[in-house]
Amino acid sequence: MTVFHKSKKVLINMKIDKEIQDFLLNDALERFLRYVKIWTTSDESSTSIPSTQNQFELANILEQELRSLGLDDVIQDDLGFVYAYIPPSKGYEDVQPIGFLAHLDTSPAVSGKDVRPVIHRNYDGKDIKFLQNKDLRLTINDSANLEEYIGLDIITSQGDTLLGADDKAGIAEIMAACACWQQFSNLKHGPIFICFSPDEELGKSVILKADRKRLPDICYTIDGGEMGELEIECFDAWRATIAFRGLSFHTGYAKNKMINAVHIACRFFSELPEAESPEHTENREGFFHLSKCQGTAEEVLASILIRDFDLKENQRRIDFLKNLKILYEIRYPGLKINLNFEHQYQNMQKFIKKNPLIVDLAKNAIKLSGLEPKIHIIRGGTDGAQLSAEGILTPNLFAGGMLVHSRKEYIPTLALQKAAEVILYLAELWTTEKL
Ligand SMILES: [Zn+2]
Repeated sequence: MTVFHKSKKVLINMKIDKEIQDFLLNDALERFLRYVKIWTTSDESSTSIPSTQNQFELANILEQELRSLGLDDVIQDDLGFVYAYIPPSKGYEDVQPIGFLAHLDTSPAVSGKDVRPVIHRNYDGKDIKFLQNKDLRLTINDSANLEEYIGLDIITSQGDTLLGADDKAGIAEIMAACACWQQFSNLKHGPIFICFSPDEELGKSVILKADRKRLPDICYTIDGGEMGELEIECFDAWRATIAFRGLSFHTGYAKNKMINAVHIACRFFSELPEAESPEHTENREGFFHLSKCQGTAEEVLASILIRDFDLKENQRRIDFLKNLKILYEIRYPGLKINLNFEHQYQNMQKFIKKNPLIVDLAKNAIKLSGLEPKIHIIRGGTDGAQLSAEGILTPNLFAGGMLVHSRKEYIPTLALQKAAEVILYLAELWTTEKL
């Protein structure tokens, strides 16, 4: 396909023909079906990195496969990060290096042990049944996208586990693109960095332990959902930790003496606006989420997650809690409230929009693959948000997995091919641009 690339007024000849498309589909599908069988569930309660030893098993396989593909500088570190490098094609030594990232672990929300993937050929639009869970049905009510996927091959688990397309689809797609670059020398690209990381699902910022020398200034995570999706915005996220310190007395003789931290905490939290909770918000609406509260009459410890796309709205919520603390300390003399705020991650949009090219090229790559770009917001965070705040600008591209973190998780096989195509197109588009 020939594309007139407007930002630099140059014509670029991109050709991903049927032969390459078939190669990508077969390669990514074969890898995906193997990778999902490896148990890589991460563990929130673990303090080690990776949080589960099983993640090394997939890391080892990827390290070997990257070596056998002939990539350079393939290493795996003690934390389970796997890195590789592909030198630029001839004549493109000076172009912008880019990176592609995906994560090894699957969500602890649902078992990822003994995943047995099933391919439902030529999906007919009817409910999909599961071999190991007779009561479970995957229907168009669960996922409206299924309507668009009629006629495609759909992969699910057997209903007793999640599938693990989040993010083994991302890994398989990056690997297929690497295999393709090695196989077809007509595909042009600059320097390419690959990184597979552990424990993304735990939200513990493990990605910041990645070796900065192995991540260029521009990266893309392949960790999004539906085909064509591109995500450049996520929540601005704060956590408030609150300690209420009261005073306990014998209940028979407590008049005008007891300060019951439990009662007071209940009253305090009932002041949070009910409409600003996760269960009453969607799209761009933010919220307070009382995520933990435990204690006794003497002391109550609690934490509240604060989320919004708009920084001012989060500041308003922070001020609201600060004012409430002052009011309650006046209302209950002797009560002490300790209130602390921790900024967990930032909305990556403010970093990424400084360089619109990163988004424009991603959109163009999606269009070149024949898909319509769908710009979504993430009502959560990503590794890319953490990296973007550190100066490594990292939007999120689709991997194709749908209803992730559930036993109904599925992916159309076409998504494996299309995501790999987008990676190839994006790499070639970057050969024409410099930041
Ligand atoms: Zn993911």
